[in-house]
Amino acid sequence: MSIDRRDFLRLFGATATTAAFVRPGFAAPSLNHVVVIGGGILGATLAYTLARRGVQVTVLEKSAPASGVTGESFAYLNASTKADDRPYHVLNALGVAGWHRLQIELQGALPVRLNGAIQWRSESGQAEEIFATLRRVQEWGYSGRRIDEVTLRALLPKAVTGPVAGAVLYEQEGALDPVATVEALLDQAKKLGATVRFPVEVTGFDVSGNRVRAVKTTEGEIEADAVVLAAGHGSEALARSIGVKLPLKSSKGILIHTDRQPGLLERVVFGPGITIKQDPDGHFVSSGAYQGSDAGSPLEEQGQRILENAARFFPQLSNARVAKVISGTRVLPADGFPVVGFAGDFRNVYVTVTHSAVTLAPVLARFAAQELLDGVPVDILAPYRPSRFA
Ligand SMILES: Cc1cc2nc3c(=O)[nH]c(=O)nc-3n(C[C@H](O)[C@H](O)[C@H](O)COP(=O)(O)OP(=O)(O)OC[C@H]3O[C@@H](n4cnc5c(N)ncnc54)[C@H](O)[C@@H]3O)c2cc1C
Repeated sequence: MSIDRRDFLRLFGATATTAAFVRPGFAAPSLNHVVVIGGGILGATLAYTLARRGVQVTVLEKSAPASGVTGESFAYLNASTKADDRPYHVLNALGVAGWHRLQIELQGALPVRLNGAIQWRSESGQAEEIFATLRRVQEWGYSGRRIDEVTLRALLPKAVTGPVAGAVLYEQEGALDPVATVEALLDQAKKLGATVRFPVEVTGFDVSGNRVRAVKTTEGEIEADAVVLAAGHGSEALARSIGVKLPLKSSKGILIHTDRQPGLLERVVFGPGITIKQDPDGHFVSSGAYQGSDAGSPLEEQGQRILENAARFFPQLSNARVAKVISGTRVLPADGFPVVGFAGDFRNVYVTVTHSAVTLAPVLARFAAQELLDGVPVDILAPYRPSRFA
């Protein structure tokens, strides 16, 4: 008897509870083929996670992998900036933990750095604010601590910090190179049997009752047992085409990438007027929220000013060059929170649309796989169901 690669993965895959190992009486659907629409960070992480569960996955991307918002992202992996809403904070903390898990699972193959994030403030009032946030998330069980000025300088020996009124280290946070991470995850998914097709745009669905039978694409129809909408801004129109509301709003952000520089920063850094990280391949990424920023001026000028601002804190960057300026538009659901779960009455159409998807991708992919393959709803996703917009 011969078994093909998919059967092998089904039988001997990483997790024992694949769709093929459903217990008697357990209401899990049998899914052979899942189409994931979108090749951003969500689509790539979903593809890898589902393929690892032994499912045949096809990713359809209308342009190229990571060509959407993911390629425009700062890609800070964190829950510390989500300190206003406890359930959302917890979901993001699970996202950060998910990157640690994936990095172990893939034996360090991902261009992800998880060495921590540092914040400091020069004025006492602002220092009190970061301490108050720290205390709140510590009370929620999150990992972070105050650090003194000596420790700050030891962690950032080449930085010109100015006066330090207070500093905080979130040691489990980090950042990733979003484009390279998407590529790495899609490569891993392909090794597990997934197919990644681009440019192929999904233009609609062939619906039968409360199920989608096939997706219509620029390359013809593709049958699917289930479909996941991970199309970022494109998800709104796709959902609308099957009568499901998925309202998104627009929010812009500007950041620069420098040319590749010698290694300087192992951690993500937030000083008073500076947000900066260095990706594993050497380029720095710094965002446009700095003192004296002028959102009205041409992009090139804004980029140059972001670099000059960064060089005030890190003089090594005086010799750096702006490699690109990115004006990105966040995928922001109307109420600011993720939209995750089955779409309307459809039992085989699943939506994953959110801001902070870089942080959230591993946990949302794991939960989506569980809900799709095991039929077990995850209760911490209850506030985030698409039905709240119905
Ligand atoms: C400036 C900025 C900074 C950010 N900083 C952070 C941060 O520090 N940390 C963090 O966690 N998040 C951050 N984000 C948010 C994060 O980048 C996004 O939430 C995330 O990249 C969205 O990923 P996605 O896979 O959902 O969407 P996308 O990356 O947009 O991927 C969707 C893909 O679907 C494709 N597509 C669309 N329609 C179709 C169709 N009909 N058929 C086929 N393919 C289709 C698109 O081409 C696209 O490639 C930031 C965003 C911006 C703009």
